[in-house]
Amino acid sequence: MFTSKIQEYLDTQQFTTFAPRAVLFDMDGVLFDSMPRHAESWSHVCTDFGLPLSREEVFMHEGRTGEATINLLTQKYWGRAATAKEVQDIYEAKCVAFNALDEAPKMPGADEVLKCVKEAGLEIYVVTGSGQLSLLNRLETHFPGYFSPDRVISSKDVKHGKPHPEPYLMALAKAGIAPWQAIVVENAPLGVQAAHAAQIFTIAVNTGPLPESALLDSGANLLYPSMTALAEQLPLFLNGNK
Ligand code: MG
Repeated sequence: MFTSKIQEYLDTQQFTTFAPRAVLFDMDGVLFDSMPRHAESWSHVCTDFGLPLSREEVFMHEGRTGEATINLLTQKYWGRAATAKEVQDIYEAKCVAFNALDEAPKMPGADEVLKCVKEAGLEIYVVTGSGQLSLLNRLETHFPGYFSPDRVISSKDVKHGKPHPEPYLMALAKAGIAPWQAIVVENAPLGVQAAHAAQIFTIAVNTGPLPESALLDSGANLLYPSMTALAEQLPLFLNGNK
């Protein structure tokens, strides 16, 4: 099964080799089970500011920077881009609302996936649309020994957020590797689109409420229903590609 998926990837991207040296992890909905809390805080705060947004829509926007999401909403409801002040006020209110909720737990299976990647000798990067310090700080505390700050790309580092490939291209540049030397693990359609546009083999984990087709149609090369399911298959996948 893996062989045919890898061949499909090579044919689509017109590469001849797939030889992973790093795994680039999205954070929300992959390492932390934080999306229900993001959905609640975004929906609540935007609606308060006169920009109605349902929880389900938040999952479809997942991966965008806060600024990009706010601008889409002000365009939709007010017919214009948000001012810098509006972006700041809304994003701050969203962070306050998010931090008032109880802490998002680690995603079940994330520990096992990280352990497997490390044991396979691959480097670990985080590429997230989030700019929330609380979550970035929690990476090191909750997954000690796996992450270093210079291997985290957040919304603060990029000009274009996902679905633009820039965040993933930046990770490749930092690692000094080509797209065929990386694997992305993503849970959001826009994140999968970004990784696919960066020509990286993309494993989708469907940890939210969206249909599988949302991830497959965005360009996912493999799809698992959870990080736990990925943890079971990953050793096989990585050992087959040494
Ligand atoms: Mg995510």
